[in-house]
Amino acid sequence: MPAQLIDGVKLSQQLRADIAARAAKLTASGRQPGLAVIIVGDDPASHVYVRNKVKACGEVGFHSVLEKYEADFSEQALLDRIAALNVDPAIHGILVQMPLPKHIDPTKVIEAIATTKDVDGYSVLSAGELVANLPGFRPCTPYGCMKLIESTGFDLRGKHAVVIGRSNTVGKPMALLLLQANATVTICHSATPDLGYHTRQADVIVAAVGRRNTVTADMVKPGAIVIDVGMNRDDAGKLCGDVDFAGVSEVASHLTPVPGGVGPMTITMLLMNTVESAERGLGKTQEKTEPDSGMAPKPGIA
Ligand code: NAP
Repeated sequence: MPAQLIDGVKLSQQLRADIAARAAKLTASGRQPGLAVIIVGDDPASHVYVRNKVKACGEVGFHSVLEKYEADFSEQALLDRIAALNVDPAIHGILVQMPLPKHIDPTKVIEAIATTKDVDGYSVLSAGELVANLPGFRPCTPYGCMKLIESTGFDLRGKHAVVIGRSNTVGKPMALLLLQANATVTICHSATPDLGYHTRQADVIVAAVGRRNTVTADMVKPGAIVIDVGMNRDDAGKLCGDVDFAGVSEVASHLTPVPGGVGPMTITMLLMNTVESAERGLGKTQEKTEPDSGMAPKPGIA
């Protein structure tokens, strides 16, 4: 029997309806959730991504601010904008679209965002919160993958999950989220000699590589759940994932399509993190804390 498709568009609609209801409640009490999106430079794909994020904010009743800067915008000017947004009570989430122009250090920029507004979950402190099982913002793509798995009703406890890819934004946080859900987790990467050996043992496979046909039918245990994070182009220029969709759908029990699987969930989880931030912070001025000092405010931000 062909795999059941896990519909990220439908799940997103359901989750966004819930987010909109939460936002309406917050707005009625004078705390409309607010997201600031900053883009530097003229990368066309990045401009499409930020437009979609701002549009999604409007659809769920958020306040949103889009700040666009030319490619020669200085690093210091960007850090100053982030410092201002960190203390803006109307803003509960700050997102700086990557990639940034070469003269701007992305780590410096991400670390300048107040942890309480780091709705992308990319900062070192957010990563630490995830490692330590503390409440915090989970990176949107792996968080969305967890929701997709959850939507199948599959209980991860004691099951074997294989994550292919170990990036800081997808693979590593994905593995930690699966671990938190009590799965036994294997992480594979470009130096893994026999990928199929690992994937064939998996009850759940999450492919986050960026190379099409990385996962083929012979690498999948019958009945496994397969989540395809990859975004690639096939020979005809059509969007495709890392998984050989036609082949794997004959073996897996559940499979996410590309497009229409993980992609829509990423923006949805950004909205989810932002509404959660508004609920948590209640619009109060928020401060970044330094990793080495525990709670001390960052100089110049408080
Ligand atoms: P990345 O930073 O390039 O990481 C790719 C990972 O794949 C690396 O850890 C790399 O291993 C591993 N890898 C490369 N070749 C491999 C191989 N032959 N076998 C096993 N592992 C291999 O990419 P990313 O940011 O994590 O993104 C991964 C994919 O997901 C991309 O296609 C990206 O466009 C897509 N993506 C989609 C969404 C969405 O919303 N749908 C969001 C984010 C990303 P090493 O560490 O050893 O190099």
